[in-house]
Amino acid sequence: MTAPLVDPFHRAISYLRVSVTDRCDFRCVYCMSENMTFLPKKELLTLEELDRMCTAFIRMGVEKLRITGGEPLVRRDIMTFFHAMGRHLESGALRELTLTTNGSQLVRFADDLFAAGVRRVNISLDTLDEKKFADITRWGRLPQVLKGIDAAQKAGLRVKINTVALKGFNEDELFALVEWCAARDMDLTFIEVMPMGDIGNEDRLGQYWPLRELRATLGERYSLTDLAERSGGPARYVQLDETGQKIGFITPLTHNFCESCNRVRLTCTGELYMCLGQEDMADLRAPLRNHPGDDAPLEAAVRAAIARKPKGHDFDYSRQSVDGRMSRHMSHTGG
Ligand code: SAM
Ligand code: SF4
Repeated sequence: MTAPLVDPFHRAISYLRVSVTDRCDFRCVYCMSENMTFLPKKELLTLEELDRMCTAFIRMGVEKLRITGGEPLVRRDIMTFFHAMGRHLESGALRELTLTTNGSQLVRFADDLFAAGVRRVNISLDTLDEKKFADITRWGRLPQVLKGIDAAQKAGLRVKINTVALKGFNEDELFALVEWCAARDMDLTFIEVMPMGDIGNEDRLGQYWPLRELRATLGERYSLTDLAERSGGPARYVQLDETGQKIGFITPLTHNFCESCNRVRLTCTGELYMCLGQEDMADLRAPLRNHPGDDAPLEAAVRAAIARKPKGHDFDYSRQSVDGRMSRHMSHTGG
C-alpha cells in the first residue's frame, strides 16, 4: 500500500463510490428526463479500466467500494467486475464491496453478487403501490422489484431500502413503508430530494419534503432513539424502539455534515468528484489511458484532486429557489 489519502481538512478518504454506467432501465422522474441522451460507449471506462482505477484507490487506502450508476446491473458483464473486486476482499485490502440498485435485475444476479463477496445491498423503492411505482419510475414495474428483493434476501444479502421523500407522493405511505420493512427485517433510509441535472418539467420545490417533518410524523407513532452511528456521509440514524428497526435520514440540504466526509465519487467516464454538491472534478481517464502500464501518473492525479476536496457543499433551498443546482445528473455522478 502507498500513503493513504488525506485531504487538507484532515479527512481520510476511505470510501469510493463508483458509477459504472449512466444507463438505466428506469426513468425516475426526479433523476432523469424521459428522453435522456446517454454517453457514447467509448466515453465510458471499460471494465478493465474500472478495475485498474478501483485497484489504485484501494492501494491508496480506500476500504469501502460502493458500485452505483445509472443502474449498475444493466451494464454488460458487470459480474466480471464484481468478481474481480472480490479479490481485494479476499486479500483484506477491501473491507466492503456493496452496491445501490433499483432491484430490477436482482433475480438474475443476487446469488452471483453474494458469491463475489457482496453482503449488503441498498435497493431504491419509493412506494409500495403498483400504479404509483409505475408513475414515479416511468419504466419500472413493482412486482419485478419485489421479486428482486426476495431474491436478494434469499441469497443471504442484507437489504437496506432507500426511499426518496417526496411531498404529495409518498407522505401517506410513511408508516406502511416502515412497517413493511420491519416485517422483512430491512433497514430503511429516507433521502431528501436533491437538485441534480435537468429533468424536464418536474417541479422540484413541489417535490421537496423536509426530513425534519418526516421525522416529526414518525415520532407521533414511535419512540425514536438517536443512534451515534456515523457512516462518514450525510446520514443520521434513529432506532424505533417498538420495532427495533434502524431508520436513516440523508439530509444533504437541511444539514451540513461535511466535516466528517470520507468519500469521493468516480463517474463512469473517469471523472473524480470530490464533493457531490460542487462542480469541481478531476479527469482521471486521461492519466489512466495515456499510461497503460504505469499507475504513477494516475496516483499523482488522484492525490492532486484530493488536495482540492472542498470543505463543504453549495446546495441551498432556503431562499425558495433551487440555488446551487448541479448541472450534471445523479445517474452520471452516481447517487
Ligand atoms: N439506479 C440505482 C438506484 O436507483 O438505486 C443506483 C443509482 S440512483 C442515481 C442512486 C440513488 O439516488 C437512488 O436511491 C435514487 O433514488 C437517488 N436519487 C436519484 N435522483 C435523486 C435526486 N434528485 N435526489 C435525491 N436522490 C436521488
Ligand atoms: Fe435509474 Fe436509479 Fe435514476 Fe431511477 S434513480 S432513473 S433507477 S438511476
